[in-house]
Amino acid sequence: MKIVASQELARAGAGGVSASLMSHTIGSPPIARAARPEIKARVLPQVLSGEKISALAITEPGGGSDVANLRTRARRDGDHYVVSGEKTFITSGVRADYLTVAVRTGGEGAGGVSLLLIEGHTPGLSRTRLKKMGWWASDTATLHFDDCRVPAENLIGEEGHGFKIIMQNFNSERMGMAASCTAFARVCLDEAIVYAKERKTFGKPLAQHQVIRHKIVDMAQKVAASQAMLEMLAWRLEQGESPVAEICMMKNQATQTMAFCASEAVQIFGGAGFMRGIKAERIYREVKVNAIGGGTEEIMKDLASRQMGL
Ligand SMILES: Cc1cc2nc3c(=O)[nH]c(=O)nc-3n(C[C@H](O)[C@H](O)[C@H](O)COP(=O)(O)OP(=O)(O)OC[C@H]3O[C@@H](n4cnc5c(N)ncnc54)[C@H](O)[C@@H]3O)c2cc1C
Repeated sequence: MKIVASQELARAGAGGVSASLMSHTIGSPPIARAARPEIKARVLPQVLSGEKISALAITEPGGGSDVANLRTRARRDGDHYVVSGEKTFITSGVRADYLTVAVRTGGEGAGGVSLLLIEGHTPGLSRTRLKKMGWWASDTATLHFDDCRVPAENLIGEEGHGFKIIMQNFNSERMGMAASCTAFARVCLDEAIVYAKERKTFGKPLAQHQVIRHKIVDMAQKVAASQAMLEMLAWRLEQGESPVAEICMMKNQATQTMAFCASEAVQIFGGAGFMRGIKAERIYREVKVNAIGGGTEEIMKDLASRQMGL
């Protein structure tokens, strides 16, 4: 269901729209899975009805890939945690009402990481808007926590169990991104086919030049392979499997397919492909964020190789 929704949203050809509309799909699952019942009952209906915005804040200025080494500190003080530190590149960061924040409550490493629900109006929280290469429709921010007092009941799951919840959350985020990227690749393919049939050079449509036809077939081949892999993995997840290595490979397969198709589509459009107004032009500017966000291409390979026992 989530895959169908991600792919349909992506058909508009604007990843920023999907990113901003869907930040609750990464911010709220930890709440649904592990928050106290009274927190779930208060927060989730507001998010699902669209009244409130949910976001996930893990990445820090000091590093995003090495989640186990995050530094934002939450110190227990009576019935509260006192949070200090910074998060960056956070989707919906400026507008979010509910922030699911990864903090360090314990010692070094993954075992010291917990998740806290921090409300947007908490004194000591300030936010800085960031400008980006693409995804302009999506709000991205740096968050500054300056001795924010957060009720201890806002702890999501148990202290020290945050890393595991974050990793579970990544699987679904990566599948959602893979679905969108495959759909964006298809948008590029479809747009290129229409143009290649219309545009004439040397007395015939582009599509009748063999080089262009071959580009289109290469695009179609990669889109079909990504979609088939995606549907197979979705089926395996439905069967209760947890194919982590394959999900990592799927994310890379889909982002590489999107990168290839965006580049080839822009090329087929020629100068027009460099101009605003063509979907492939926008998608081309959104390639990198998908190969970086939700776990970079390099980290996906590293994680997959470890799962494979290498
Ligand atoms: C538009 C946008 C929206 C985002 N939204 C969110 C969000 O909502 N919430 C959130 O928490 N984060 C978000 N992120 C952050 C994103 O998840 C991180 O950018 C990403 O995880 C990489 O972290 P980093 O940028 O700190 O890069 P780094 O971790 O500093 O890595 C830099 C480079 O080094 C490579 N590298 C790092 N370690 C290794 C290694 N061991 N071996 C090989 N190569 C390595 C990386 O692959 C990368 O290419 C967003 C990012 C962007 C751009």
